[in-house]
Amino acid sequence: MKILLFDTTLRDGSQAEGISFSPHDKMRIAQELDRIGLHYIEGGWPGSNPKDNQFFQDARKLKLKNARLVAFGSTRRKGIKAAYDANLKAIIESGVPAACIFGKSWDMHVTHALQTTLEENLAMIRDSVSYLKSKKLEVIYDAEHFFDGFRANHAYALKTVAAAHEAGADMIALCDTNGGCLPTQITAGVQSVRRALPGAILGIHAHNDSGCGVANTLAAVEAGCTLIQGTINGIGERCGNADLTVIIPNLQLKMGYKVISDEQLRWLTEIARSVSEIANLVPNDRQPYVGNSAFAHKGGIHVSAVSRHSATYEHVNPDVVGNQRRIIVSELSGKSSVLLKSNELRLDFSKDKIATQAILDAVKKREMEGYHFEGAEASFQLLVEKALGRYKPYFELKNYHVGLERDGRHEQMICEATVKLSVRGRVNVTAAKGDGPVNALDNALRRALEKFYPSLKGMTLTDYKVRVIDATAGTAAKVRVLIESRDKKDEWTTTGVSTNLIEASWLALVEAIEYKLFKDMRRMS
Ligand SMILES: [Zn+2]
Repeated sequence: MKILLFDTTLRDGSQAEGISFSPHDKMRIAQELDRIGLHYIEGGWPGSNPKDNQFFQDARKLKLKNARLVAFGSTRRKGIKAAYDANLKAIIESGVPAACIFGKSWDMHVTHALQTTLEENLAMIRDSVSYLKSKKLEVIYDAEHFFDGFRANHAYALKTVAAAHEAGADMIALCDTNGGCLPTQITAGVQSVRRALPGAILGIHAHNDSGCGVANTLAAVEAGCTLIQGTINGIGERCGNADLTVIIPNLQLKMGYKVISDEQLRWLTEIARSVSEIANLVPNDRQPYVGNSAFAHKGGIHVSAVSRHSATYEHVNPDVVGNQRRIIVSELSGKSSVLLKSNELRLDFSKDKIATQAILDAVKKREMEGYHFEGAEASFQLLVEKALGRYKPYFELKNYHVGLERDGRHEQMICEATVKLSVRGRVNVTAAKGDGPVNALDNALRRALEKFYPSLKGMTLTDYKVRVIDATAGTAAKVRVLIESRDKKDEWTTTGVSTNLIEASWLALVEAIEYKLFKDMRRMS
């Protein structure tokens, strides 16, 4: 049984709160989706807004290797001929080889939302499908609210999909538009349609409002659906759509379907993260298969077991989905996790007892000061390099100064930082303004260093967190700052601890930059 993957990140996904793809973003995502071997890419709704029109214009230049581009739309309006319907016309004019149109399956929606008769709705479905077929398009019919409609009036819901099938729809996707179904309801609905339309190729379009988007999709496949609609990272309206980055490995690794090649599957983590980046969303660490924590191990027993045999605490090998095992260093963990962590970071000294002890001592000392290397791997790696005496500083701080001035009348805050650094024997003084003291320090530091290290221009700070770690000490309490940075290739986190917020931020900031320079140099060597 051949499973076809139909991605709607660019259409349904773009309807999610906080997401706005430019036509250029859509082009980038479409290329990624094609690379990973998806079969259909729904690009948007031509004629509905200028951005989607622009995308379909641009997309004519896309050279897709695996995927067919799909335009979305609805069945014709009531009371007119399909040939006169502007939205169907826009689909044809968009130049795509395939169309996905939705129609009503729920009688209440027909009479209340569309305000037409049940008969006219069936005619709208029939006319629209056969019109698009007469224009030589592949037609996927989305049966909107199918499962809710099926529950309310199952004879009518079946009539609507039969109308699409008889008019020549190539595939019929049954939609849980409100996303509230449970797997058993999906199974029952799909089985009924299979009995009624034995020749039809069926699909599933699930939303995640009951937390069952993926489960419902898999249930539908088991019941006989072979077309799967979903989005990368499950982005979509409300609680999102069924997440293809979870569905694909489940089908391939657990259910025995060959949906994409093994090599394409290894791009999964990368595509998940790049879609988050393009969408400007913080990636979900706990996302199955592709999340940063999906293969993270903490705590002595787990870690020593994983180091001996990874299957003890991992359901699949992270490599097959392009993710990686992470060993979290914390006071919970002993020698084996420091060693394993170092292996993961390709720091080979495990046979060197003195080096191992030096690192353990350094970790313990830092932990006493309030450091926590959990989630701050870049700082850990720098600590190891420094403990082993292998780290060569890229710059040396002479001093820094931060000034904050508040203008009483204008209620304006002016923040300025000055840093004095020595780089390759040359002393530099640089000043910069910022939105706050940390931002001003960051700006001054970069301004001082960018002329020596131009790659810093490609690095951005993406997150900044502060925790108070010794609340009993009153104002002398220490704070721990975590700074997350990224460039085109990687994402890394550094940490700083001090009784002074600015100093803790400075320490984390400096390590963020040190790590960036360190990894770039290592890559070159
Ligand atoms: Zn949807």
